[in-house]
Amino acid sequence: MSKIQFFDVTKMYKLDEKRDKYALDNINLCFGNGLTCILGKSGSGKSTLLNMIGLLDYPSKGKIVIDGCDLSRLNNKKKDTYRSTKCGFIFQHYHLLEKHSALFNAILPSLILGSNFKESVNKAKAIFAKINFKKELLDSRVCNLSGGEKQRVAIVRALMNNPDILLADEPTGALDKENSKEIMHILKEISKEKTVLIVTHNSELAEEYSDRIITINDGKITNDLNKKLIKDKPITKSIKKKALNDAWSDRIIINNIWRRLLRNSISCASLIISIVATILIVGFSIGSQESIEKEKYKKFDIGVGTISKESTHKANGSSLSLIKTSRPSIDELQTIKSNNPSFVFTHNYDYLLSGYELSIGENKLDEAILSPIYSFQEPFVDKNLIIDGVLPKNSLNECIVNKAFKINLGKNNNLSIVGQIIHLKISNQIDYYTGEAIKPYISHYFDLEKDIIIKGVVDEINFLSVPKIYFSYESLEEYVENTCLNNLSTYRNTDVSWRQRVVDASDTEQLSSYSYYCFLKDVKSYRQLNEFVKYNDIVYTNNNLIVGETLQDLIEVSCTGMEIFMIIAIVGCILILGMISFSNYSEDRKSSAVLRCLGATENMVEDLYISENLTLGMVSSIVAIIISYFLQRPINWILKLFLNLENLISIPIESFLNIKLLFPLIIVGSTILISIISTVLPIRFSKKISLKEELADE
Ligand code: ADP
Ligand code: MG
Repeated sequence: MSKIQFFDVTKMYKLDEKRDKYALDNINLCFGNGLTCILGKSGSGKSTLLNMIGLLDYPSKGKIVIDGCDLSRLNNKKKDTYRSTKCGFIFQHYHLLEKHSALFNAILPSLILGSNFKESVNKAKAIFAKINFKKELLDSRVCNLSGGEKQRVAIVRALMNNPDILLADEPTGALDKENSKEIMHILKEISKEKTVLIVTHNSELAEEYSDRIITINDGKITNDLNKKLIKDKPITKSIKKKALNDAWSDRIIINNIWRRLLRNSISCASLIISIVATILIVGFSIGSQESIEKEKYKKFDIGVGTISKESTHKANGSSLSLIKTSRPSIDELQTIKSNNPSFVFTHNYDYLLSGYELSIGENKLDEAILSPIYSFQEPFVDKNLIIDGVLPKNSLNECIVNKAFKINLGKNNNLSIVGQIIHLKISNQIDYYTGEAIKPYISHYFDLEKDIIIKGVVDEINFLSVPKIYFSYESLEEYVENTCLNNLSTYRNTDVSWRQRVVDASDTEQLSSYSYYCFLKDVKSYRQLNEFVKYNDIVYTNNNLIVGETLQDLIEVSCTGMEIFMIIAIVGCILILGMISFSNYSEDRKSSAVLRCLGATENMVEDLYISENLTLGMVSSIVAIIISYFLQRPINWILKLFLNLENLISIPIESFLNIKLLFPLIIVGSTILISIISTVLPIRFSKKISLKEELADE
């Protein structure tokens, strides 16, 4: 039993600039043992008085002292302990968690306080038995109970932590006469051991059951009828908070998740989608780098380049300069050769070959390109690239084509490509200028007509690839060495071969093609190509390197683009989660307020929502990791079809930065962080109103 003292307690509301409303006007009161009824018309201030004792509301002026303790001096933690141990509350509208069982509702305050589940159940059952509550109703959901039954559950709940004070705000307001009497009887029994304060406007019931009746009107006490002498014998009990008990919160969280299954599934789905996208994008940025690094030089002619000399000439009187390309001199070539032993240098016969015509039977091959390979012998070529047929012999009668050629030809030719015959025809007029007045030039035709058999097909990266026919440059060199220019030979009186003619050409003559070919002796050492030493104005050109690097740049740019989308997706996700947890929280404000009245701290209530989102976050991130893991293969398969690049997506599930399982941990961890942030922020920023207002019935 407790002693409650009111000293000049006033509660004032500002209605507008000029008018004030006094809900309580300078109240001085003292309560003790027994059952006290507070009577009064609606709006007279009864609930305000009760709420102040229960710390649901606070006075504007004056102080309330309970067992010698000034309530205004309590800090938040002590207020929570006070609510859970000192006062039990019974409301007109019960304020039970309707979706939970009667038993669970009753034991909640005890669980919140940290008591053992089994002990709490036993204790509740004992109290239920005392008030004649039907056993079989214990496990029914509260929403299925009658008003009288609900109020009994509320009474048991109020008594669970054995409070000194029982506060009941119109406990019979929603009940019929018979139930009202029974409830009053129960409260009367309880008042033998506790201070019981009942707000009612039923004077008959008050007359019948109370020890003292206080009448209140317009915030002032108008009558105070003491039927029985009150012996004030305050007992202060100290209840220590026990260790946290999660049994109650777990149940509420699970119930909340099920109750909002649709909404939660939608937020789960949106989370999963954005996490899967994030994982795939990360997998793509890692996988594409590895894949491009490995495959960007997957070209049959990766080792084929040219060197030429570039000199810049400033045009007179203009800011423009001209770049002139020419074949390096023999001395320069020697220096480059000695610096680059991995190259084979040859003259460039492209000018002789220009204007070639290719055909298969009647079909003209306008798009195909005749491409040089020094020799079809390893290590000049990478045999592993052959997907069909074999390596040709070094002869102008044999060639190998690339996949693009095969695909291109396949459009109007169903035959197997290997074994088909390409017809090559070249006929170029090339003149030799003698400088003599009588016979200024000697004309020749470089004629080459051959049937070339396709011996195989090679696989190359698909990016910017054109249909190519690879032929042996070594064999071409042999051919031009053994074929003579008849007219020039007669004129010079000695055999002059086409090779000699190109060697003798001036470095600026078109016949020199303004360059030398340089072939890598071992194509597997293509990495050296990047380190080709620049010598004076000598320029090394390798189109395959340029294509490979362009592809790498493109992929890097697209990675950056995707990463930007990923960030947008994550921000969107935080917003969705934030909105959902905020609406969850707003929807449940009343049950949260009930939990607070039962002694749950603000943090405990906030934890319910954090845990709900945390569960969703954990489930979603784990599901997303599994989904992305299984999506990786089919997506890689599709990407391979289009880009011909292997394993473009490589999710580092097993090990990341050399740490096992780091990546899944990061994903789960960041999702948890996001879930917490997106729950805490909206709850913290939502408008704080007093418990009394939260509990108000709309
Ligand atoms: P009751 O005796 O019916 O329980 P209350 O204690 O709930 O009455 O309210 C006392 C008075 O205080 C009422 O006239 C009510 O209108 C007024 N009141 C309560 N809360 C507010 C508020 N937030 N703003 C203005 N007036 C209020
Ligand atoms: Mg009221």
